[in-house]
Amino acid sequence: MYKISLITGDGIGPEISESVVKVLETINDKLGLKIEIRKLEAGDNALVKTGKALPEVTLDTIKKSDACLKAPAGESAVDVIVVLRRILNLYANIRPAKSYPNMPALKDNIDLVIVRENTEDLYTGMEFEVGNTAIALRTISEDASKRIAKYAFLTATQRNLKMKVTCVHKSNVMRKTDGLFARSCSEVAKQFPKVSFEQMYVDACAMNLIRQPESFDVIVTTNLFGDILSDEAAQVVGGLGMAPAANIGDDFALFEPVHGAAFDIAGKQAANPSSFILSAKMMFDWLGMKNNDKNCFEVAKKLESSVYGVVKDGIKTKDIGGDKTTMEFTQQVISKLV
Ligand code: ATP
Repeated sequence: MYKISLITGDGIGPEISESVVKVLETINDKLGLKIEIRKLEAGDNALVKTGKALPEVTLDTIKKSDACLKAPAGESAVDVIVVLRRILNLYANIRPAKSYPNMPALKDNIDLVIVRENTEDLYTGMEFEVGNTAIALRTISEDASKRIAKYAFLTATQRNLKMKVTCVHKSNVMRKTDGLFARSCSEVAKQFPKVSFEQMYVDACAMNLIRQPESFDVIVTTNLFGDILSDEAAQVVGGLGMAPAANIGDDFALFEPVHGAAFDIAGKQAANPSSFILSAKMMFDWLGMKNNDKNCFEVAKKLESSVYGVVKDGIKTKDIGGDKTTMEFTQQVISKLV
């Protein structure tokens, strides 16, 4: 029995959470993998109700579960996800960008993953004002850089596709911080002679993600660059509605869509739930690895092939060129699952 905590979030969060609950219930009832879902509140709604964007009961329940699924939070997102990443030490943010059929994509045959350092950089909130100047501090440490580099090389090895890691930085301008990041990655590269290693400035990477996205395998980068490049990569393969993500630590992991609360389409059954369903797929892969449980790997594979099959049949939500509602699309995925 796997205890899964589920933060339902804000905006389109509750709608895509309903989809994921239906999918998990189907897995529990029909695929023989026992799952207990614990629905939790965090984000803007929780802030209004309890005075805290991340209520204690939510955090306590997450800590007692095997993994967490998190729908996007709204304006208070920084008080939810950034805090969770820090408290749970989820240092690796994994954001795959993969081609699916029938997508409004810029190019096909893309299968890359962005491994984003999740604990440092300009995202630690160390900002202050001196007179009428605002200052932000950027921290990059050798330990965190080597830890994320190692994760990237292990990812390239496990994927066993192009066996390539691209280290993305801007060390020609940020000589100390990105210089340290690049050097740390180069040092770790020596431990993985079978994986080829290249370095790329972030501006060139942004261009190459449009020009030749199929040439990438694993991109390892710092927190802010990873955040921006992963939205770009998602758009290249078809949009944020198809983009899942994982936040991984040594003992725990949290899975969430790349996108935010998308208030513009909330409450209209217009959201594409694939981003969250594919995040659940990543969760089952991680649970499979952690617990050496082949049932989890099988469920993960089925989840991905079900989403693949549905869009291949041309059944799609509006964001990817179709006319199905969130729940109609979900039902189609479920019918392929069983
Ligand atoms: P954040 O800064 O919190 O990441 P954002 O304001 O940049 O959020 P998102 O919510 O990430 O914006 O999404 C940008 C737009 O992409 C949305 O306004 C919405 O139209 C579209 N979008 C995002 N997610 C989905 C989805 N799952 N299904 C359909 N459209 C989506």
